[in-house]
Amino acid sequence: MAQAQRDIEQLRMSATLALDEAVDKVRLVSPARAKALAGLGIFTVRDLLHHFPRRYIDLSSKETVRSARIGENCTIEGVIHDIRLKRPKPKLQLVEIDLVDETGILLITAFRQPWLMDSLSKGMRLAVAGKLEFNFGYKRMTNPFIEVLGDANDAAGMVIPVHPATEKISTAWMRRLIANALEKTVGLYDPLPVDLRIKRKLMSKGTALARIHFPQNILQAQQARQRLAYEEILNLELFLIRNSKEREEGKTPVQHNVQGKFMHALEAVLPFALTGEQAAARDDILREMAANKVMNHLLLGDVGTGKTVVAAHAVAAVADSGGQALFMVPTEVLAQQHGKSLGQLFDAAGIISEVVTGSTPASEKAAIAERFAAGTIDVLIGTHALLEEGIVPKNLTLVIIDEQQRFGVDQRARLLEKGEAPDALYLTATPIPRSLALALFGNLTLSYIKEKPYQTPPRKTKVYSKEHRGFAYDAAKEALARGEQVYVVCPLVGKSTEERNSKAVGKKMFEEAEDDALYPAISIENDADLREDNIAAASKEAAFLQEHVFVDYTIELLHGKMPASEKQAVMERFRSGEVQVLVATTVIEVGVDVPQATVMIIEDADRFGLSQLHQLRGRVGRGSLPGEVYLISAAKNEVALSRLAAMESSDDGYELAAFDLSLRREGDILGNRQHGVSALKLVNVVRDGELIEMAHADAVDLLEKDPELAAPEHRALAREVRLLFKDETVKGG
Ligand code: ADP
Ligand code: MG
Repeated sequence: MAQAQRDIEQLRMSATLALDEAVDKVRLVSPARAKALAGLGIFTVRDLLHHFPRRYIDLSSKETVRSARIGENCTIEGVIHDIRLKRPKPKLQLVEIDLVDETGILLITAFRQPWLMDSLSKGMRLAVAGKLEFNFGYKRMTNPFIEVLGDANDAAGMVIPVHPATEKISTAWMRRLIANALEKTVGLYDPLPVDLRIKRKLMSKGTALARIHFPQNILQAQQARQRLAYEEILNLELFLIRNSKEREEGKTPVQHNVQGKFMHALEAVLPFALTGEQAAARDDILREMAANKVMNHLLLGDVGTGKTVVAAHAVAAVADSGGQALFMVPTEVLAQQHGKSLGQLFDAAGIISEVVTGSTPASEKAAIAERFAAGTIDVLIGTHALLEEGIVPKNLTLVIIDEQQRFGVDQRARLLEKGEAPDALYLTATPIPRSLALALFGNLTLSYIKEKPYQTPPRKTKVYSKEHRGFAYDAAKEALARGEQVYVVCPLVGKSTEERNSKAVGKKMFEEAEDDALYPAISIENDADLREDNIAAASKEAAFLQEHVFVDYTIELLHGKMPASEKQAVMERFRSGEVQVLVATTVIEVGVDVPQATVMIIEDADRFGLSQLHQLRGRVGRGSLPGEVYLISAAKNEVALSRLAAMESSDDGYELAAFDLSLRREGDILGNRQHGVSALKLVNVVRDGELIEMAHADAVDLLEKDPELAAPEHRALAREVRLLFKDETVKGG
């Protein structure tokens, strides 16, 4: 190799290694700044380069005050002519700015951001972005996004990246530091093999990093994002797939007999015929169980789609193969329920089952454990109690986890460890798209059940604004007059969605860049119905309804803080019809079944996730009578309204969940317990479904050709995966 060539290689290697140096090796990162960066989770040069812009301000498409059109989102550049702090009400502070350009004056009002007085002053050049309004004779913007221009760096490009910043490090400083980090890593090796880059038409990593931070135009930023997102997923997929291969190494998968006598016996005793979807799911599962590989199968279906009976077939295959199954469910109630319904089926088919939960007496548990260890029990159904050390199967060949999203990765792993290489079947009612499943599990087969096995009566959903909620009360009164019953789900106390979103509204134009603020927080704390202030609000609501609306009927209140016996008594009175209107916090979500209840009114509906609303409304229209659901909301912003509109137009839990998911980030839904998602910074698992599929296919392909990623052209990639996931071990799922 010529000396020059060697020098280049040397430089490229040190640029690559620089990625994992401490961030204080970057020019201008003082100890104080390093500390501030650490607060953002930035410790290395790589972390800094992966601190991606939240949005971009596109000055190439900016308007002047005169050309900007009222009602539209736009960017306007100008100089501060005047700035003042006002206090129209004791508790309200607002900053007013007169911004001028060569064509006119723009009035800016910024609510609740008094600190702008410190950071802005007369004569400064600003770019502001937001919706243009017109009143009292002036063009105006309320709470626009404001960026100070004037740094020479900024003026260079027509697109200004806006990185997440802190009090200590402004966006301008962030740009400077990132530019310096980029400088340090110029020429770094691209972990993606060349043929993959050519096949997927991806720019080099160095270019992508430079362009995502400092694009010339928005298109460049998008392409760079695409390339880096692809790499994120490819890395994760490689890790997940290799990890699960390692787990199975040297172990012999069970090839189940799926056409034995227990299977036939089960089919003979089923009280109903499986639906087409159920049969297809059963076939998917049995095919996997018969194959010479370890099954990793996810069965997805809304509540009530009949997943349990499909899983029963997997158990029959186990019995036919001389194996054993563990069937884990998240709650005692569910364990008993399965024990009863499945137990009957199994009994009739000659399959031996038992139930173990936390409340099973010790002596009984010991006796069951002994029989299980001896191999005389085919399937053990139970809660977390199944994880106990005393539960030792003789020959575990299948693990079933119901409501798998309720279990952590390590719990799944512990159950799997009770056998050598058991097949795994996960059931879930959380409708996650295939792309997300792949992102979480790497290699996984899936079946979906979309339709319920039986006909449900029609249900209609209607959204009313707060002012019009009288219409909902009228409908409820009509139902009561027919002898039917009504649920009222109470508003929740706390900051309203409207307040939380007000900041986001002005930013809508930067759709190209992903922006957390655009996807409003729409989760409800699980324990919302336990909070004192919510309970107080619910009591008030109940009193109001009794006094002013449902005067002739009996109203009672149900909330999470009530003692179980009291809850039961209230539910009993509602079920019997003694109480006609039940005012409740979200406690009614779980397992309430009153066929005469046909109307549900949900206050502040915009505060609930769509899946939660869907579950709630599942409480009406359960008997033979059609249901009516009224969603009341004071929301004005587009995102909230479009979510509620989706509730009106769709009665499909899957569709709704996918829609909801597309509005927020996966972390909000899965929490942090799910492994892997934290590795995805740029990827949105719903919107990037295609990209995920692509990267998944490429990862499978790569590992088929080069399982250890040992070829010279794969070494950089192998190193990257190792570095990224060095602290992570996935045992389960
Ligand atoms: P989930 O998918 O929520 O776990 P379940 O398995 O509990 O649903 O099934 C819901 C109900 O539907 C049960 O009462 C079950 O017996 C019934 N069911 C399941 N499959 C069928 C079918 N093919 N025909 C009629 N009823 C069915
Ligand atoms: Mg179930």
